[in-house]
Amino acid sequence: MIIKVMTLFPEMFLGPLDNSIVQRAKEKDIIDLEYINIRDFSDNKHKKVDDYPYGGGPGMIMAPQPIFDCYNYVINMLDLKESEKPRVIYLSPKGKVFNQQMAIEFSRERHIIMLCGHYEGVDQRVIDEIITDEVSIGDYVLTGGEIPAMVLIDSITRLLPGTLSQDQCYEDETFHSGLLEYPQYTRPASFRGLEVPDVLISGHHKKIDEWRRKESLKLTYKRRPELLKNIKLTDKERDFLNSIKGNNCQAID
Ligand code: SAM
Repeated sequence: MIIKVMTLFPEMFLGPLDNSIVQRAKEKDIIDLEYINIRDFSDNKHKKVDDYPYGGGPGMIMAPQPIFDCYNYVINMLDLKESEKPRVIYLSPKGKVFNQQMAIEFSRERHIIMLCGHYEGVDQRVIDEIITDEVSIGDYVLTGGEIPAMVLIDSITRLLPGTLSQDQCYEDETFHSGLLEYPQYTRPASFRGLEVPDVLISGHHKKIDEWRRKESLKLTYKRRPELLKNIKLTDKERDFLNSIKGNNCQAID
């Protein structure tokens, strides 16, 4: 996958994405990341990239010219088939809130372009003309789109085939199955009087799977009950959840 990030602060990406799993994916050529400085495309002699908002109001708006020219440069760099239109994501608090399903969907693309806003955001004409997806990482406002872009890149990269090894498989992880992940333990089995649940050291795989599924259901019911609406439950699992509710195990809002 090729990801091109249009940003005013390319140096912010150096470090966070140069370690651990993302770095390994780059070394294995699973992902090709490039950060392009929008300011380099400003045709203003002072390399200005922002201007006052029409209609008044506080702050500055990122002007269309440097972004459109940066975008055309990026498009020309990509080896696109005639009919191919890359996903162009604008990181924005006004966008659709990012989740694992969106990460899975983006991980199937060949090319992704990201636009990081700054100041009070970007001129609407940029969004209307070139953006295919407006994506938010949550209901709060950050200074710029760089950290949100890193969040997307990290979560997409770990889904790309070959990035995670077999034993780091993501399929049981929180959200992937639609449920929160069950509790995990490692050695020693007894640590300062704190014991690992017996079933996990029993070696009985069917029982371990059952225990994990029940723990996932229980935790999801307590913390994120709304997620259960999308889960196909067996009769046994439905009975189990009803027994939890009957036992005064309160869902936490
Ligand atoms: N004036 C904008 C508004 O009220 O919606 C907020 C602009 S914010 C200070 C500057 C930039 O940070 C945005 O253009 C966007 O790229 C990025 N940003 C801020 N919060 C974000 C969030 N929750 N998710 C994604 N991007 C965000």
